Amino acid sequence: MKQIPALSIENLSILYPGGDAPAVRDVSFELAQGEIACLLGPSGCGKTTLLRAIAGFLMPSNGMIKLKGEKASEAGRVRSPENRNVGVVFQDYALFPHLSVRKNIEFGLHKRDEPEKKQRSGELLALIGLEALADRYPHELSGGQQQRVALARALAPKPTLILLDEPFSNLDVELKERLTFEVREILKAENMSAILVTHDQHEAFSMADRIGVMHAGELQQWGSSYSLYHQPNSRMVADFIGQGVFLPGRKTELGLQIELAHLRLTEDQLPSYDEFDVLIRPDDIIHDDASPMQAKVVRKAFRGADFLYTLELESGVQVLALVPSHHNHAIGEPIGIKLELDHVITFDRI
Ligand code: ATP
Repeated sequence: MKQIPALSIENLSILYPGGDAPAVRDVSFELAQGEIACLLGPSGCGKTTLLRAIAGFLMPSNGMIKLKGEKASEAGRVRSPENRNVGVVFQDYALFPHLSVRKNIEFGLHKRDEPEKKQRSGELLALIGLEALADRYPHELSGGQQQRVALARALAPKPTLILLDEPFSNLDVELKERLTFEVREILKAENMSAILVTHDQHEAFSMADRIGVMHAGELQQWGSSYSLYHQPNSRMVADFIGQGVFLPGRKTELGLQIELAHLRLTEDQLPSYDEFDVLIRPDDIIHDDASPMQAKVVRKAFRGADFLYTLELESGVQVLALVPSHHNHAIGEPIGIKLELDHVITFDRI
């Protein structure tokens, strides 16, 4: 039997009063119990609007939001944020400055008796690794510690769902990286369903089981980070997720031809359209000194474990290549490359 999803969004549209186009348009997806999803997309695409509607701060103009199978929002009717059992973690943490760490965590448990409160806050303090700081006040904590307390406070009443609105944007890169793993582990330990809004792809990749890419109010694709990167369903998603270039391709009798290679494809693998481009990711291009195909280094970015090279082919077309960083080549130097495509992704030429 299919489990009831923690959250179902059905054909949801949201139009702000006075707005001429909906900020969220006909969005549908489901989130299973214990699943972590991330809404990703360029500024203004509707991520925050969708998150606020799920929290109960905004009324849909169309469609429906269900929490554990029960209607929580539809046009004309919204169950209030306090009555929908959804926890929210804000960007600025919003901890109560006059309450200790323990009391902040216990805040949402006011209806429980004292021993139950102590038991749950103790459990969460252990989970976030801050037992020793239980009696401190928020101003005596680092940013990362405050973020963990905010998460524990949201988790305390065991909500149906937790919403995280750009939770790491005030933190430095190193701490952000560590916290994304920690927060994921904490959510998983509690089997908590969660939705995160972020601008940061790396954060989304390391946190989420599912990613929703939004553009102009619409959900372009809903899938795992791997499928978004390797099977983008539109040019917009291919462009937005990861890096890459589009090389013009043409059909041949045995497959298709692009500048770097001839790819053998069966009839059903070939695109239906005549004018198309093939997506080439930096990890599709392999540095190989023995290869007869040469490309000139025109730009390089050192990224620690690897270099991201911009390479120019003989025709002047540029491609990106990810190469282990002990292959340190100078600008202008020609290097041997070959193409290793696992899957061919083509898009209609625009
Ligand atoms: P960002 O990444 O910049 O936070 P976002 O993807 O979260 O962007 P939203 O804040 O959801 O985007 O905004 C979506 C659209 O709705 C934008 O065009 C924005 O101008 C509009 N919008 C947001 N809030 C309101 C509001 N209160 N009234 C009218 N329009 C709004």
